[in-house]
Amino acid sequence: MATITAVRFRPFALLARREDPSAESAQPRRRPDAAAPGGAPADSLGPIVMLGVPGAGKGTQARRIVERFGLPQISTGDIFRAAVAAGTPAGRELAGYMEKGELVPDELVCEIVAARLLLPDCRRGCILDGFPRTVAQAEWLRGFLDENGMLGPCGLIVIYLTVGYNELYRRLAGRRFCPSCGRIYNDATQPPRVAGRCDVDGTELQQRRDDDPQVVRERLIAYEEQTLPLIEYLRRCSCFHQILGTDPIDRVTANVFGALAACRGAAE
Ligand code: AMP
Repeated sequence: MATITAVRFRPFALLARREDPSAESAQPRRRPDAAAPGGAPADSLGPIVMLGVPGAGKGTQARRIVERFGLPQISTGDIFRAAVAAGTPAGRELAGYMEKGELVPDELVCEIVAARLLLPDCRRGCILDGFPRTVAQAEWLRGFLDENGMLGPCGLIVIYLTVGYNELYRRLAGRRFCPSCGRIYNDATQPPRVAGRCDVDGTELQQRRDDDPQVVRERLIAYEEQTLPLIEYLRRCSCFHQILGTDPIDRVTANVFGALAACRGAAE
């Protein structure tokens, strides 16, 4: 059995425990249909980790991988925002970190991700967007995937989208979302047809609280301090592809799909 390093693992604890203190011991540690270690289905892919600073285009490219390969997208930021919006005890705890632009502690993040990864739709792989963000999370992830037989033939795949600092600031400052349908826009790169309105339902677009310039600054500092070592770590232990995120969106997608094909080819 793989050792879970750095982050203590309490399966399902976060979401279940806080609503019902007796629920923790009732939850399984392994997925009931988990394959033996190394035994993920032959057509599985990854899991695929999307890496890059906030605003590098991870979410957009992740959605295109979803459409092409039919894998679920797991965005920790989206899961956390949903918990905050729902006002759950976990959400209140998360909000304290997110509103300050700080990273959520590893243990809390891993508990939430574990619960999500154990759902059956992740059997053939998944796309992780916004996770892992630290070396401790990555070490935990590798152990967890191995223990649950969730690594596909090419192992963990990492797509690292790179963007220069100034371009990044421009993108984050222009980012808007629709509070009704969740669709994301960007005044700089993906503007809506009518300024300030959602293309789908016409709702007035909003800026995420953590895209406020001061919070953006905090997020970039947190990224540089904690995430750059992660890139070096993952470069050593995954099928790692670095792709220029400032190219036109369709070209980035073509490069991402090319990288996934190369990983598959290498595993055959
Ligand atoms: P994102 O939408 O990925 O930029 O995430 C929004 C916020 O959620 C971040 O600024 C962090 O506060 C928190 N967050 C999301 N994913 C993680 C993670 N893997 N580790 C720590 N904090 C996270």
